[in-house]
Parts: sequence; C-alpha cells; structure tokens
Amino acid sequence: MQRFDTAVNLLGISEEMYYILKVPRQQVIVGLPVTMDDGSLRVFEGYRVIHSNILGPSKGGIRFDPAVNLDEVRALAAWMTWKCAVVDIPYGGAKGGVACNPRAMSAGEIERLMRAYTVAMLDVFGPDRDIPAPDMGTGPREMAWLMDEYSKAKGMTVNAVVTGKPLVLGGSLGRTEATGRGVTVAALSAMEKMRINPYRATAAVQGFGNVGSFAAALLHERGVSVKAVSDISGGYYNDKGIDIEAAVRYRDANKGSLDGFAGAEKISNEELLSLAVDVLVPAAKEDVITDDNAASVQAKLIVEGANGPTSASADDIINEKGILVVPDILANAGGVTVSYFEWVQNRIGYGWTLDRINRRADRAMKDAFDRVYSASKQYKVSLRIAAYIVAIK
Ligand code: NAD
Repeated sequence: MQRFDTAVNLLGISEEMYYILKVPRQQVIVGLPVTMDDGSLRVFEGYRVIHSNILGPSKGGIRFDPAVNLDEVRALAAWMTWKCAVVDIPYGGAKGGVACNPRAMSAGEIERLMRAYTVAMLDVFGPDRDIPAPDMGTGPREMAWLMDEYSKAKGMTVNAVVTGKPLVLGGSLGRTEATGRGVTVAALSAMEKMRINPYRATAAVQGFGNVGSFAAALLHERGVSVKAVSDISGGYYNDKGIDIEAAVRYRDANKGSLDGFAGAEKISNEELLSLAVDVLVPAAKEDVITDDNAASVQAKLIVEGANGPTSASADDIINEKGILVVPDILANAGGVTVSYFEWVQNRIGYGWTLDRINRRADRAMKDAFDRVYSASKQYKVSLRIAAYIVAIK
C-alpha cells in the first residue's frame, strides 16, 4: 500500500476514488469441514477476497499453506488488481486461500478440501464473476477438482470458471512456461533501453522452479550467459555460464532439487544476490533483497520474477545505486496473461496454437513494458511507481 499511496499522490486522484481502489469489494471467510482419512473431522478456514472488479471479473490464485490468513490474502488480491491492469487485460484482482498443510495431507484429503472450498464459493466464483487459478500449494490437479465440483453444481461443464487446468480439460498451451517467458521479454526490453547487448550480457537467477528455470533457459536461448542459478539447496556458479539444460535434467532426476549439481561451484543464495552480473532475476520468494543486503547488489538490472522480492525499504537503496528494477507486477505478469488466454479459448471453444499464444503474450508484455517505461520518464519515477501509475490510471 506504501507504493500505491506514492503513485496515488503523484496522480492526485480524489479521496473518493482512493477509497474505491483501496477497500476490497468482498471478503469471504468460510469454515470447511473435511473428513480425514482416519475418520476424524477437521474444520479448515478458507478465504476469498475480491479486491476489485472494475475492469472485469476478478482473477487470482488459491493458496494452500499453513500461514494463510485474511490479511495476506487481502494484500495478494490487491496485487492482482494492479498486475492485471498493468498488462491491460480485462480483469480485476482477487485471491483465495485455505490455512492447511497440503504436504501433510493425502491426495484424498486435499481433494475433499478443494471440493468443500468450491462448494462454499459457488456464489463467489463464475466465468463472468471471479476466476480462480493455482498458487502456492495448488496446481492443475486441484483446478480440475474445482472445475468438476463447480460444473456438477451448475449441471453443465463450465471450464472457463478456473484457469491453470490440465490441458485435457481446457488448459492452455504455453501456460507452464508463460511467467518465465514474460520475465525474459521484460528483461530484454529493459536491456534494449539500457543498451546492454544480450550476447555480451551476464545474469544470475535465484530460484529454479517454474519461473526461475524457464527464465534462465530462455535468457540463455537469447544469448545471455547465465553465470549462476540457485534453489533452496544453495547457489551454483560457473564463470563460463551454467549449462541450463543440464541443470534442468539434473533437477528433474533429483526430486526437483539442484543439490549436488556438478556443473558449477557451490555458492550461497546470499552470494548470488551480490554477484557482479548485468541482470539479477530473483524468482524464488518474497523479501530477499532487504535493507541488510541491498547495498551489496552489483547488478545493473533487477527483473522481479518472484512476487515482492524487494522490500519497500530496500527500494530507496537500490534506486540510489542507479539500478533499474522491472517490478513484479509487470515482470511476472506473463502468467496471468496466458491464464487470460486460457479463459478466452474456453469461452470461444477453440484452442490456439502455441505459436499464436507466445506471439500474443510477448506482445502484451512488450507493450506493458513500453507503457510503464514512458510513464517513468513522464513522472520521473522508478519503473515500480510508474507501473502503479499505469495500473491506477
Ligand atoms: P516454485 O515452487 O516452482 O519454485 C520456487 C523455487 O525457489 C524452487 O527452486 C525453490 O527451491 C526455490 N526457493 C525456495 N525458497 C528459497 C530460498 N529461501 N532461497 C532460494 N531459493 C528458494 O515456484 P514458482 O512458481 O517458480 O514461483 C516463484 C515466485 O514467482 C513466487 O514468488 C511466485 O509467487 C512468483 N510467481 C509465480 C508465477 C507462476 O506462474 N508460477 C506467476 C507470478 C509470480
């Protein structure tokens, strides 16, 4: 909200308008009784917050995590409003979640919880009302259960009620790699403005999951030497550039972890953040660049693949150092853009080719970058504040 307030002050919008944009439209809290495998009954607390539906039906993921609470869901819902607006897709913002630990639950328990959550939200969700998607702790499998439960209640197949579905149920080609691909388009757009030649550029990517590994692979494909990657097991550095394909193969054969990856020297995640590379892509988690380490960042460009990787107080230090930051609500919006394409395909009943999806998503990302870049020049502000200005406008 600090960043939102800064942008609002620059735009000089009225107090009435300020509260319309600030206060969520709807906040739903539900109790979800679920029969566990041992026969006992547990009641989980679930949430759905619709922050805004001004531009269209609200859009946002569902998080299954023990730390989920209403305040967090509210913040994430507002973030979705700005993200959708900045890439100019006709959606408002929402978020949902259930306080639970899916890692300690069986598939059957998760299914019953997902179905109970869907039933509790029958009047909230809808293809023209509110369209959920996966987030931490949920994926295509959970979205399939949601679609099935919603469709049963409506007496017909309603695939447009949710995105991030398996392909066979109306998911979209290109969705898996969409966020990492958008991060790459944002990085290349910024490098062009900074006159950094990708074929002579170096990068470090934190996080080697969905966003980080595709961003690393696509940056590499566009000529950038990715000198370091990392995951929860630590950082991996190679001065000649990491062989990203080999790293992906290693991770996939090693239960999703880079632990023991031989094509590099071991460094820490903290060291990765301060490497002397041109581009730094934090794509793991929130609050990794903070007051404590911002001064040691040497990259010229930060492209925020993760949500909220830079704390608000570290922004000033990073800006003073003259580092350009492509903010999360712009840099990682490629995912929600292709989610929107999934919904469009479901509604027209026709699946697009991967080529068409990639071309349209790349153009959406490039156009959004250009809009934000122009606003940053016009208002003489960082790309982050400019992104909020574009979204609020
Ligand atoms: P993921 O679970 O696929 O991957 C996360 C990666 O980060 C893993 O490699 C994990 O080992 C690593 N990691 C976790 N904790 C770490 C730590 N403390 N230090 C270093 N590495 C750590 O998740 P993802 O989908 O790639 O999401 C990453 C970030 O991008 C999140 O902030 C998410 O909210 C954001 N995001 C994701 C999408 C999407 O489409 N997947 C879209 C927008 C934003």
